[in-house]
Amino acid sequence: RSADRLVADLVRDVPDYPKPGVLFKDITPLLADPEAFGHTVEALGAPWRDAAPRVDKVVGIEARGFILAAPVALALGAGFVPVRKAGKLPGPTFARSYALEYGQETLEVQRDAFEPGDRVLIVDDVLATGGTVEAANTLIRDAGAEVAGISVLLELTFLAPRTRTGDLTVHSLLPV
Ligand code: IMP
Repeated sequence: RSADRLVADLVRDVPDYPKPGVLFKDITPLLADPEAFGHTVEALGAPWRDAAPRVDKVVGIEARGFILAAPVALALGAGFVPVRKAGKLPGPTFARSYALEYGQETLEVQRDAFEPGDRVLIVDDVLATGGTVEAANTLIRDAGAEVAGISVLLELTFLAPRTRTGDLTVHSLLPV
């Protein structure tokens, strides 16, 4: 529990970023603290460690999702797959556009990112409206894999993100 407290204390609220009216959750103080960063990676992976069938790939969403998803992948003995903003991945991709809490976004995944039937864990920093995770879920299915579930550091429950995640299993370390 004290490790959870440490993590919670190292997430900083930044008012009016990136635009007026938005209260931005800044995880950079947490990332700068090796104990809190390590606990976060451990806790994001823990629910999936003994999953059956096992998690084959961990998807990280550009950009902060990469920072958390890559070490979670290694901790689970799984591969890492990037879901990136439009135009950043070489070769054929699947693309999906969606509305963000602030703005609009297009995400892509490489068409050959997965083996058929791979079981995939999505890891991101913040689950806000759920639109990003919903788009990633669609991309992963387009690419022939199956989403096992979602692990996020922060869930902004007042935005009701689980209305967008359907029947997928969602683990959040810090519901706020
Ligand atoms: P959603 O699509 O509305 O669920 O927004 C989630 C995405 O936006 C994630 O990829 C986050 O990185 C980013 N995001 C939304 N709100 C915040 C925030 O307060 N802090 C950091 N990232 C955020």
